[in-house]
Amino acid sequence: MSVHTLQSQAPFSCDPAHSLGRRYAEPAAPTRNAFQRDRDRIVHSTSFRRLVYKTQVFLNHEGDLFRTRMTHSLEVAQLARSVARVLGLNEDLVEAIALAHDLGHTPFGHAGQDALNACMQEHGGFEHNFQSLRVVDSLESRYPQFEGLNLSFETREGILKHCSAKNAQYLVDSECSEGSGGLVKKVSVGSRFLERKQPSLEAQLCNLADEVAYNAHDIDDGVRSGLIDLEKLAEVPLFESFRVQVMKEFSGLSARKTAYETIRRMLSAQVYDIIESTGKALAKYDIKTLDDVRCAPPLVCFSESMREQSTQLKRFLFQNLYRHPQVVETTNWAKGVVTDLFNAYINDPKEMPTFYQSRTNLNRAVSDYIAGMTDRFASAEYVRLCAASPSPGEHAYA
Ligand code: MG
Repeated sequence: MSVHTLQSQAPFSCDPAHSLGRRYAEPAAPTRNAFQRDRDRIVHSTSFRRLVYKTQVFLNHEGDLFRTRMTHSLEVAQLARSVARVLGLNEDLVEAIALAHDLGHTPFGHAGQDALNACMQEHGGFEHNFQSLRVVDSLESRYPQFEGLNLSFETREGILKHCSAKNAQYLVDSECSEGSGGLVKKVSVGSRFLERKQPSLEAQLCNLADEVAYNAHDIDDGVRSGLIDLEKLAEVPLFESFRVQVMKEFSGLSARKTAYETIRRMLSAQVYDIIESTGKALAKYDIKTLDDVRCAPPLVCFSESMREQSTQLKRFLFQNLYRHPQVVETTNWAKGVVTDLFNAYINDPKEMPTFYQSRTNLNRAVSDYIAGMTDRFASAEYVRLCAASPSPGEHAYA
């Protein structure tokens, strides 16, 4: 398939006119389809605005130019839309899923999630995908008729990338029972995990675009921070092959422009690879309808060789960036902040807003409250409640 081919909506894509619907019945919007409306609700949500001040890898206060959850989500949306347009998938749905996929992330990136999960071990645990769904299903509180954003099934399905069997069963039980408040009886987003079926291609695409985005921007941020250098990146075949190409084409290029151009080519190569490999998978399994998609193995994919190169890149980032002593130092500090805050609110729930104090399950209420915090709000609460230093110390990043 030519990468320049523009397809109209493919028959195996999600069609907003045939959505499996919202949890609470609503009249259609006069000028927007269901997925456009979902995207707009996400953009106007409080949780979406908070992504600006949430860590991706580098803590928010460490530099203004590093990715945050917000810019990461925008990059995922850009990559996923590029692929969606060529494959004839629904771009509005892809955009909605991509913008919402990290809404459930705690402050301080994965460190925050690990600490919160440890605090919640005896109380059902904490998992950011499931939390993203909780945000759009119940924690956003802004509409008179229902809690949450009342998004379409297809958007919610895409947000819930992974789910434990226990949480999946909980979703099936709660969504498929006849509820109050106009709940429409529909398929549960938990069902596919129990039936071992796949989500839509739009959802699968956002999942892979997430990986492509963070692999590329973590190299960029890693180089910018000085924690990884271009010479060290020679260990990564996917990066090195394009870097050599760039150096050959442009002599005397600055290190920064070399990195940008190399990353740009890496991104393009991965996007074209996904388009080609997914096209082949669609043909191999003779995919004609959305039902075919759900019953087939995962279809949005890399070629075998790109998968291998992507794994090598991930391994490199893990060893050289996520495990870098300077990153680990801030990570450990962040885990302490989340753990101490959790204990502080459990011991004195009055320190939380009344909305959280009044909930029957105090542990889940504290978990929801902390998960929603931005880095800087969590730091301020840490200083206020735990009389602690507001940051792990200054790092001189560029
Ligand atoms: Mg992400």
